[in-house]
Formats: sequence, C-alpha cells, structure tokens
Amino acid sequence: MPNPNAELSSAYQTILKVVEQVEPRIAAATRAELTDQRGSLKLIASENYASLPVLATMGTWLSDKYAEGTVGHRFYAGCQNIDTVESVAAEHARELFGAEYAYAQPHSGIDANLTAFWAILAHKIEGPALTEFGAKTVNDLSEADWATLRKRFGDQKMLGMSLDAGGHLTHGFRPNISGKMFDQRSYGTDPTTQLLDYDQIAAAAREFKPLILVAGYSAYPRRIDFAKMKEIADEIGAVFMVDMAHFAGLVAGKVFTGNEDPVPFADVVTTTTHKSLRGPRGGLVLAKEEYAASVDRGCPLVLGGPLSHMMAAKAVALAEARTAEFRTYAQNVADNAQTLAEGLLKRGSTLVTGGTDNHIVLLDVSSFGLTGRQAESALLDAGVVTNRNSVPADPNGAWYTSGVRLGTPALTSRGFGAAEFDRVAELIVEVLSNTTPVTASTGKPGKAKYTLADGVAERVQGAADELLDAHPLYPGLEL
Ligand SMILES: *Cc1c(COP(=O)(O)O)cnc(C)c1O
Repeated sequence: MPNPNAELSSAYQTILKVVEQVEPRIAAATRAELTDQRGSLKLIASENYASLPVLATMGTWLSDKYAEGTVGHRFYAGCQNIDTVESVAAEHARELFGAEYAYAQPHSGIDANLTAFWAILAHKIEGPALTEFGAKTVNDLSEADWATLRKRFGDQKMLGMSLDAGGHLTHGFRPNISGKMFDQRSYGTDPTTQLLDYDQIAAAAREFKPLILVAGYSAYPRRIDFAKMKEIADEIGAVFMVDMAHFAGLVAGKVFTGNEDPVPFADVVTTTTHKSLRGPRGGLVLAKEEYAASVDRGCPLVLGGPLSHMMAAKAVALAEARTAEFRTYAQNVADNAQTLAEGLLKRGSTLVTGGTDNHIVLLDVSSFGLTGRQAESALLDAGVVTNRNSVPADPNGAWYTSGVRLGTPALTSRGFGAAEFDRVAELIVEVLSNTTPVTASTGKPGKAKYTLADGVAERVQGAADELLDAHPLYPGLEL
C-alpha cells in the first residue's frame, strides 16, 4: 500500500504554493509550525497530533455552506450534503461512546459547555415556566412573565471542581460567562491526599443544592468515580453533567470503563475533540434522550451556523477512534503516563496526588526551588514544551504557580513508549535540577527569572532530538 502521508505530501506542497501566491507569510508560518512541532517534546496535556486524513478534511469547500438548524431541518436550502456530514459525525459519536444522543455542532469545548448549560436551563427552567405561564414559546410570554423567567435563569446554582484543584474556567468561574450566569460553589480535593473526597462533595451538594453538579477537570491526574457522583446528584435532584474534554480519548479507547465511564451516568456529557480524542479542534455534546430537543437548540441559542468542514473532520476522527488501533493508543497514553510519573518520582520529584492514573502528571516544582513559570521557561529553553499550572492551595497564585502540567497524548501519537518516556522524565529532572532562581533587584527571590547551567539546554535538546528523530511526526510529509 502506498504511504498515504507521502501522497498527501505532494497535495500539501501544492496547497502551500497556492497559498503562498496570495499571502506568503501564512504559507511560511504553516511550514514553520510543522518544523516547530516536529522539533520539540510536546508534553502539553491538552494537545495532540490529528491524523493527516483529519487535517485534510478540514480544508475543503464544506466550509462554504450555511446550515443553521439540525439534520433534515435547516433554515437554508441545499443542505443535503451537510446533513450527511452531521449525521455521520453524530452516529459515530453515539456508537463510540454508547450515548443516546450526540450533537456535533459546537465549535469548541467552551461552546459545547454553553450549549449544555442552556440546554439544561431550557429543560429544567424554561419548559416548566412556559407551562406555568400558559405560553407555548418564549415569544408568547408577557413582559412581566419574561422578567420573572429571566430572573430564574440567572438565579441558578452550579457546583463544580475548584480551579485550584484542577477544574475548568467554564465550570462557573467568574472570568468565564458560566460564572456570570450561575451562582457557583466549588468542591476541592482532600488537603492531605490531594484526591477527590466524595463525602465532602456530597456534603457540599446537600448544603448548596445546585441545579447542576459538574464533574470533569483540566489538571487532575486521577480518574473519577462517576457512579458516586451520579448518586450525589440524584440524592439532591441535581442534573449531572460531565465535561470529559481532557480524557475523552481514554473513554473512547475503553481505558475508562464501568464507573470511570461518564456516559452511562451523566445526563449531559460535553467534550472537546482535539485533546486526547485526537480529532480536529471542536466540541461535542452527548445527552440522554430527554435532553436531545433542548441540546438541538444550540444553534441559534449560543452557536452560529455550524462549521461543516469541522463536523466532517470530527466524523473522520471519530471513525478512527472506533478502531482497535485507537484502543491500543489510548492504553499506551495511560501506560506512558505511569512510566513518566514513575520516572520523575524515582529521580526525587514531587507529584500532586503522588502519581497518576490518567494521561496527566502534575509536577510540583517547588521541591526544585522553582516557580511553575521558571520551570516552564527553563524546559522550553531545552526544547521541552509544557505549561505551568497551579497546584492545590498554590502559594504562588495562578500566574507564577508552583506546578508544571505534563501529558502523554501527543508524544504517544508519535509512537513514544516506556523507554522514551523514562528518558523524558530524566531530561525534565536534568533541566529542573540545573535551573536556579535569580534574586530580583528588590532582594526578594524573583518569581519569573532563572538561569540554566551552561550547556544543559543544548545537551537536553540534543537528547530530545534523538528521540524525536526516531519517532517522526507525519512521516513522509515533506514541505
Ligand atoms: C480544554 C477544556 C475546555 C475548553 O475547550 P476549548 O476547545 O478550548 O474551548 C473545556 N473544559 C475542559 C475541562 C477543558 O479541559
């Protein structure tokens, strides 16, 4: 069989030549990005490398069509092909995750969450209010009734994981619209074990009585017992929503099953498609049938016209995620995270929760005498791309932080295994143990400045290059 990457290689060469004639800076940046991605150890836990078929699917004339509405019920003429695209994407999502309903339109994870929040509000608040006011739609409400309903929308409560413990901004935090829409409280993790404490979550839920109980995280290195969370939601009559944006690939690949699979337990599940799921940038909402009609109102409720080219790429990625190869990939992502954690621990590092059982390792760099910002910058100097992240009760706040978040999805896509991840752990420790914080002119230790001992950046970049060259990204693709 011909290498499909080599065939796509000449297609991409042609495409970039055409782009170059219109705006050469964009062609140049596109080429440079491939070089950059190929030449660094990408440990950003939320990033991945989509396959070339997924990438190629994004760049077509499917983008040219407006298709507001839902499959078979569009507000524009001539949407038959978009209907095919959207229904194939939804079908793959339903089958892959065993979901009753799937909505493929959200443009991102944030959009998926907004769609879900408003679907829940429509189902739980608007529906009953319309009946109470004797109206069929919101357009039939009197001004007074509408004012009452608006207050009810804005007066709802959400309980989610605190940012500090690894939750996400969209789970009711003030800088995000969710924090302006909802009265939010959060649950954290146990101060000693740094693990979720379901008894504490239950106690908080009983006291606060939220409309929505949210589970899901961006920086928690452990699995969640969704059966327990569902039990808590049921006890207080809350809607149970799970945002699996980070770990959808582990659910898709059947690494998380039973109580660790959110889909059977949650009323509504949201996700991104571009993190561990390895698809195009985008979002999905999965729901119990009861919520389907409300979720379908995503456009025009909070979304514009669907991005048909992106829904097409989601369909291709979801088809890939249904293969045996993807299951192996997902298991490798989890196994590699174990190896990375063990490699860091045996070299004297401190990890939040003491380890991992998903795809994330949260390294507490205070034991190296560094802030997260210093550690992130020093690692970047040596070709290791990570992002700084708060640790629970972080003394350095959300900007400087005391942690660095590491993830295995991207390098596992390049074929890194146990030997490579152990070496990655060694390189990380080599950089951090050779980094010294620089005292600021005030005499206090600077939180951003650091020096890296002579030769370390070059040595580590050289070792990284060896690993990267042995596991090429998009082999056969030459620009
Ligand atoms: C990444 C993430 C999002 C947001 O996804 P975007 O596509 O960046 O909007 C939402 N929720 C969680 C838990 C995430 O990790």
